[in-house]
Amino acid sequence: MLVYRLPRGLALDKPGSFCPKCRTPIGWRSNIPLVSFLLQRGRCTDCDARIHWRYPLGELLCALLALAAWVVFGASLEAMAAILVCAALVALALIDLEHGLLPDRLTLGLLWAGLAYSLAPKSSVAGMPVLLPFPAPGQAIAGAIAGYAFLWLFNRLWRIVRKRDGLGLGDCKLLAAMGAWLGLNGLPLVLAPAAVAGALTGLVIIALGRGSFSQEIPFGPFLAAGSVFALFLGPGLGLMPGLPGTPGWPGP
Ligand SMILES: [Zn+2]
Repeated sequence: MLVYRLPRGLALDKPGSFCPKCRTPIGWRSNIPLVSFLLQRGRCTDCDARIHWRYPLGELLCALLALAAWVVFGASLEAMAAILVCAALVALALIDLEHGLLPDRLTLGLLWAGLAYSLAPKSSVAGMPVLLPFPAPGQAIAGAIAGYAFLWLFNRLWRIVRKRDGLGLGDCKLLAAMGAWLGLNGLPLVLAPAAVAGALTGLVIIALGRGSFSQEIPFGPFLAAGSVFALFLGPGLGLMPGLPGTPGWPGP
């Protein structure tokens, strides 16, 4: 719903879900994530129009990431926060793929939410400093500033060398938001996989003859994927001691 409405400037609260083709309101029966899509074989019950692939893909990704949050963080406030962050990242990635933009309402909303969450007491802080994800306020603020500044500077240099933008301000805001959620120490963990995946994808597109070096590929989906990597695999790599389910966890 977010992915369809936000970039089109439509209200989020009303009307209720409707078919974009025939405008028929969608009842709860046809609005069950994934289940309705499969039962209706990917088509609207009224006008038979194909349902866009972003709906089942977004729903599937959100379900898998929610499951991952529960496995990694256990039944905790951290898991709830991770699910929220992942839902926003999925929406941002899909919007950027389709429209080439990252709406402020999502990037800045995620940024402020991350800064606010850094003030919340963490269930895993039991005499052990938690660096990332879910850092202390100082780390979160430093992460947000550094995340924005790094991509902004990168784009400035890119403009001097290539005479055009390599990134958008939306990318800067998204990395700032992830800096707030993962802390300054988490930024390399987001950027490294995002940059590698972005470069490989660019090379594959060129190798397949589908584009050239001057073609613009949205970086948002790669930043989102890097963020998910840092959020879930950081603890597993031993980079985030003291979280539930990780070796350094002091126990409930
Ligand atoms: Zn329809």
